[in-house]
Amino acid sequence: MSSSFLSRLLFATSNPHKLEEVIPILRPCGIEVFGLDRYEGPEPEEPIEDADTFEGNARLKAMGYAAQTGLTCLAEDSGLEVDALDGAPGVYSARYAGVAGDRASRDRANNDKLLAAMLEVPDGQRRARFVCAMVVARPDGTIVAESRGTFEGEIVRTPRGSNGFGYDPLLWIPGEGRTSAELSPDEKNARSHRGAAARALATALAGR
Ligand code: IMP
Repeated sequence: MSSSFLSRLLFATSNPHKLEEVIPILRPCGIEVFGLDRYEGPEPEEPIEDADTFEGNARLKAMGYAAQTGLTCLAEDSGLEVDALDGAPGVYSARYAGVAGDRASRDRANNDKLLAAMLEVPDGQRRARFVCAMVVARPDGTIVAESRGTFEGEIVRTPRGSNGFGYDPLLWIPGEGRTSAELSPDEKNARSHRGAAARALATALAGR
C-alpha cells in the first residue's frame, strides 16, 4: 500500500452483513475499513441511487459520501441478475417487492416475489448471478479504484439456509450443492461476488 490515505477507508454502507464480509478480506491487505456506524461527523445524506448500472450507483455512493465526509470512501452496489427475467431484479434488487420495513421483512418480500416470478421457469433455465461493483473515491471526486465480482448459480424453488442476507437462500451454487445461505461466512467470501470485488479492489489499491 503506497498511500496512507488509502489504508483507512470509510465503507459507505449501513448493511452490517456487507461490512462483516468485506472487513476480513481487506484487513490482511493492510486496508482498514469502517462503516457509517463508526463515522463520528454529522450524519451524511444518503445519495439517490438512480443509475442504471451497479457501477453507476457505486460511483454515486462513493463520490457522494466522500464529498460530504471529507474522507476517502469505499462504496459498493450489488444485486441479483436472473437470466429468465432479463436481468431483473438487477439494480432494483433491494426494492424489488417495493415493501417498506426492516431489512428482514424487505428480504422476505423480495424473495417471495422472485420465487413467484420464477414459478413457471423450467429447471435448466434458472441461471442467475450476484453482481458486486466497488468504487473508492476521494473527497475531490477522483475515482481511485473500481472493481467488479460475480457469483454464478441457479434459482431454487424452495429457500434453503439461514446464513447471509437478502437472496442468499435462493441462489444454488452448483459446484457446492448448497445455496449461498448454506455456506459459512468464510466459504461465501472465498467464492462470492463481494469477495471477488474486494480482492480485485485491494490489488488495484496496492498499485496506487
Ligand atoms: P444495495 O444494498 O442497495 O446494494 O442492495 C443490494 C441488494 O441486493 C440487497 O438488498 C440484496 O437484496 C441483494 N444482494 C446483494 N448482495 C447480496 C448477497 O451477497 N446475498 C444476497 N443478496 C444480495
